[in-house]
Amino acid sequence: MTYQLNEKVINLAPYETEKGKYKVVLNAGESFLPVHPDMKKDILSAVRKVAFNRYPDPEAAKCCKAFADYYSVEPALVTAGNGSDELIGLILSGFFSKGEKVLVAEPDFSMYEFYADEAELELVRYQKAGDYRIEPEALVRLAKEEHCRGLIFSNPCNPTSQGLKKMPLRALLKELPEVLVVIDEAYMDFWNQSLINEAEEFDNLIILRTSSKAVGSAAIRLGFAVCHKKLTKALQALKSPYNVNAMTQAAGAAIYKHQDILKEAQREILAARGFLAGALLKLEAEWKGTLYEFHLIPEPKTNFVVLCFNKGKNNEVYGFLKKKGILVRCFPDFLRVTVGNLEENQKFLDALRTLQ
Ligand SMILES: *Cc1c(COP(=O)(O)O)cnc(C)c1O
Repeated sequence: MTYQLNEKVINLAPYETEKGKYKVVLNAGESFLPVHPDMKKDILSAVRKVAFNRYPDPEAAKCCKAFADYYSVEPALVTAGNGSDELIGLILSGFFSKGEKVLVAEPDFSMYEFYADEAELELVRYQKAGDYRIEPEALVRLAKEEHCRGLIFSNPCNPTSQGLKKMPLRALLKELPEVLVVIDEAYMDFWNQSLINEAEEFDNLIILRTSSKAVGSAAIRLGFAVCHKKLTKALQALKSPYNVNAMTQAAGAAIYKHQDILKEAQREILAARGFLAGALLKLEAEWKGTLYEFHLIPEPKTNFVVLCFNKGKNNEVYGFLKKKGILVRCFPDFLRVTVGNLEENQKFLDALRTLQ
């Protein structure tokens, strides 16, 4: 007799990331900015003070307070996670029971499905409309018809760069009072339609944020949930006690205190996106009717842009760029290109132009 792996893991493969060295890396939605020297000084000095022989604060209080101050929310509504990824997993496995229905809007962040599978939930899939817009009425209708217990989506969306505004979201939350709605605002620092300051008004809403994107700290693995006290209490009880390590807590507390540096970094990223999107719009017009014609999803609300080439061409263009040392993210129907610094964006555009 040998040990048999259970059905859930037997066909599971580790999450694949791109290996190898590329001169321009625009595939992961990260910030292109290295940490600001003043911030770095504070991070290192905070980490130096960590008591390495002691367990970290289970409430990550200092780090949650700095985050709460930065976004003007009440610290009592904030739970820190080992990346927002951990929180997504906790929510899907803890707030739902096996076989319950959770609604997702496709295409969206792949980890929702991953954790829902792990929790043995049933996924109900809403297909987004033209240019990957969500039609909120249709989404609500589907949630009701299918008796979904949960709804999770990113806003603005990774990978589509599109988003739902506050007004329709508030209406959606009121229409679905018995549904737990998880809004993953991983990229909301690049848009201004956050519901983070209204989290307390809804007892069926969890807002997720991360330090990995606009905040430029993917390395430390730090995410946050902001929600009603009733939900916060449950989330705190569900999480493992020492889920956020002491170095990350110390770094997080130092990072979110730098309001001005963070805001300036976000302005820089948005300016770079303006340049990249502007150049791509021109190219879209130039290439209309040619073999490599593409459509740029208009008005991106994220630090990436989305290019839809004709069927079969996305993969080809992805491979072409990769050979030139430029890494973007390939999806079946489009390419997602993270905004880089001016030089990286220029290299990407120059390489793209050599397609024709
Ligand atoms: C990057 C990303 C995350 C993951 O954030 P971490 O805090 O790094 O785990 C979550 N949701 C979306 C939509 C993302 O793009």
